[in-house]
Amino acid sequence: MDTIENMRIHFYGVQGSGSVFPPKAERDNARLFTDMELLQQVFSRLNEHTSPEGKINVSLEELLGGPANRKNLTAFRETLELSEQRVYGGWTTCFRIETSDGHDIVLDCGSGFRICAEDISRKWGEQEKRNLTILGSHAHFDHTEGFDQAAVCFDPRNHIHVMANNHFLKALDQNLGIFSHEMDMDLKGIQTPLNYELMPASFESTEIRDLTTNPPPTEKDAAIHQYHDVNETITIGKTKIQPFEVFHPDPCLGYRIEHNGKVFVYCTDHELRHGDSPEHPLQIASIEAEERLIAHSMGADVMYRDGQFLQIEYDGDKGVGAPMGVSRKDWGHSCIEDVMNMSEHCKVKQTYIGHHDPNRSWLERNWIDETLSRRSEQTGFDIEMAKAETVIDL
Ligand SMILES: [Zn+2]
Ligand SMILES: [Zn+2]
Repeated sequence: MDTIENMRIHFYGVQGSGSVFPPKAERDNARLFTDMELLQQVFSRLNEHTSPEGKINVSLEELLGGPANRKNLTAFRETLELSEQRVYGGWTTCFRIETSDGHDIVLDCGSGFRICAEDISRKWGEQEKRNLTILGSHAHFDHTEGFDQAAVCFDPRNHIHVMANNHFLKALDQNLGIFSHEMDMDLKGIQTPLNYELMPASFESTEIRDLTTNPPPTEKDAAIHQYHDVNETITIGKTKIQPFEVFHPDPCLGYRIEHNGKVFVYCTDHELRHGDSPEHPLQIASIEAEERLIAHSMGADVMYRDGQFLQIEYDGDKGVGAPMGVSRKDWGHSCIEDVMNMSEHCKVKQTYIGHHDPNRSWLERNWIDETLSRRSEQTGFDIEMAKAETVIDL
């Protein structure tokens, strides 16, 4: 691709909870759709060369500009307007930002991190500068599972700086010992055969923490990690990153990332809670987190935000991928309707709703996306279902 003007944002994983790919029946459905589209366009092209009596007045060679070989068929296909295949989901959460001043910043290390790391390794080639910053949201498996499959961790020339909350750093360190070079022997080898001894990149960690309200870190933790106050901005070259706490309800961080005045808000795994009195402590915490998110999202260019459920599913009146509903209160995820309202209120130019529920069918993902697209036409603010492999230039 060409020069990066400000930020290039890559979506490697937008699937919530676990990697999900469409089953055969849904792949067959998608195939049928694309086949029908192709056939309709080919026949409509032939129709342009059909006499009023219904006779086709064109030879195959005239239509294709030569014999029906791969080259001519490919050129003919390019003249058709075929819709893009949409991949709603796939790998779990991982994003990457390439900045105009040459930095690579990764957000979360779900299973999408494996492909992300391949791209980074390919881009870095033999270059000398090999620093990667990873910003973690929280420790859940779908945000950390790709770490030990990532090529960047196995190159001794690479330096990887992980900035995240305590749980995210703890999850990586307990599993792999990459920061402390110590492992709890009871945990060694339980989740992965790998550990820091087999991962030759160098690792550094900074815990993002509210240093004014939290008790000071233990001496042992302070010997391993550096500390950054959640209210302070992180600066990487020309990029300014503001972390903020969201409600999952366990600790989770969102990030407002600004480069040359362009803003990307990353907010995975956050719940705007419904269903209790405003005095309920979790309700208060959720509303406070939503207010922080709103403050950081005002006028943003692009936002990625968790919208795992429809309101009817959150309330438990309907299941996701199953007829039987169950209340999703305190599952830590938001309703699509709330994301739409919030992003319109904040006048966010482009909103991508992600962390798709693993049980949501591809057909339904498509239907929701089309509904969002109609709403966008009415409001002028672009809202869509996040799709894997999306690349945005800001
Ligand atoms: Zn998640
Ligand atoms: Zn989570």
